[in-house]
This record gives sequence, structure tokens and C-alpha cells, in this order.
Amino acid sequence: MKYMTERQQIVEFGKKLITEKLTTGTGGNISIFIREDNVMLISPSGIPYNETKPEDIVVLDLDGNVIEGTRKPSSEYHMHCIFYQKTDNVNSVVHTHSDYATAVACLLQDIEPLHYIIGSVGDKVRCCDYKTFGTQELADEAYRVMGDNNGILLGNHGVLAVGPNCADAFSVAKDIEFLAKLKIRAESIGTPVLLDEEQMKVVVEKFGTYGQQVEQEV
Ligand code: 13P
Ligand code: ZN
Repeated sequence: MKYMTERQQIVEFGKKLITEKLTTGTGGNISIFIREDNVMLISPSGIPYNETKPEDIVVLDLDGNVIEGTRKPSSEYHMHCIFYQKTDNVNSVVHTHSDYATAVACLLQDIEPLHYIIGSVGDKVRCCDYKTFGTQELADEAYRVMGDNNGILLGNHGVLAVGPNCADAFSVAKDIEFLAKLKIRAESIGTPVLLDEEQMKVVVEKFGTYGQQVEQEV
């Protein structure tokens, strides 16, 4: 079977959505873009993560046509597809319904820069308007509000994270849940002191070189 490594990755990160409490039931979905073949691999719709096997992953072209697979693709394939169609640096999209982030999304509030970790997402975590799940309207709205950031809240719905690979997109989804939890806890005892523009600029730059960077080829 083609794309075995990427299929396995979607299966493994799907299980992690449950074990790391980033979603419940069959909420959320994961995709990986195979740039050289211009196809995306996406989790199947409505199959519990611990029952999903590599052969259940669906291969789609960027018009949403099934290229390979017997399962119905995630209902949110438009919201994944649009980032592969319109950007050249996003190779994975992770969508979750994590508890705290979804609670903030139900208030249609942004998460302001109350902790430096927000730099892994961008200047702040914006919340887009509510649109019906599985629609092109939701995809368009999510893409518009994402801008250059790596993650957003989906109004009255959940979280959307993007990245150059699945591990990074997953990590952004996890950071958003952490930030939403902080917001709710901090606001329950006071008014968080936000980082200012200058402090955030420094942090966003530092995130560009954070961790074990891969050596650039010369
Ligand atoms: P799928 O099971 O179709 O991926 O849908 C889950 C979901 O989160 C819809 O927004
Ligand atoms: Zn959803």
C-alpha cells in the first residue's frame, strides 16, 4: 500500500488525540499533504481513533476526489484541502474539539497573549465565526482568519492547527488547549497581564529558532 509511513502517522496521532485528551469520540480529524504527488491523506469520517487502521485512511486529490480508499473521508476535508491548495508551507492539518479551547470558542473570544507559549501559534489565537461543520464556508472562514498563524479557534466548534508536519501541527493544537486552560483559570481569579507587542515580537522570533533545528543546506 502506498504512503504507509503517512498512514501510520495519521493513525498514531489520532490515538494521541484521545490519550492526550484533545478530543472526545470521533470529533476532530488529521491530514497530511504529499506535496510531490499533490494528494492528501485524511482520517476517515466517524470511525473511532482506536479502531482506525492504515487502510482506512483516504487519499484525496485537492478537488476532494477520492483517489484511493474504501472509507468515506473526513467530513472536514474542505478545511484541510484549502491550506494545501493555498499555501506552500503547510503539510499537515489537525482539527480537535479539546475541552478548554472549545469552551473559549463557544464565547467567540480570541486568546490574547497571556503566556509566551502563544508564540508557537502566532501573535494571538484568533477565533473565527461559526459556520456549519463540513462546509466550504467553514473552510474559507478558517483560512481567512488563520493568516500567517499556525492555529485558530473555530467558533462554537473547536480548534484548527496547521504545520510543516504532523508532529508540529499536533503540538500547536496541544499548545492552544494549554493556553485556553490558562485563560479560563487566570480569568477566574483576576485579569491576566498580557504580553505587549514588543515582548511578543521577541518571542515569535525566538520560536523561529527554538528546539533542535534541522541544519539548512547551503
Ligand atoms: P469527521 O469524523 O467526519 O472527521 O468529523 C469530525 C468533526 O470534528 C467534524 O467537525
Ligand atoms: Zn469538528
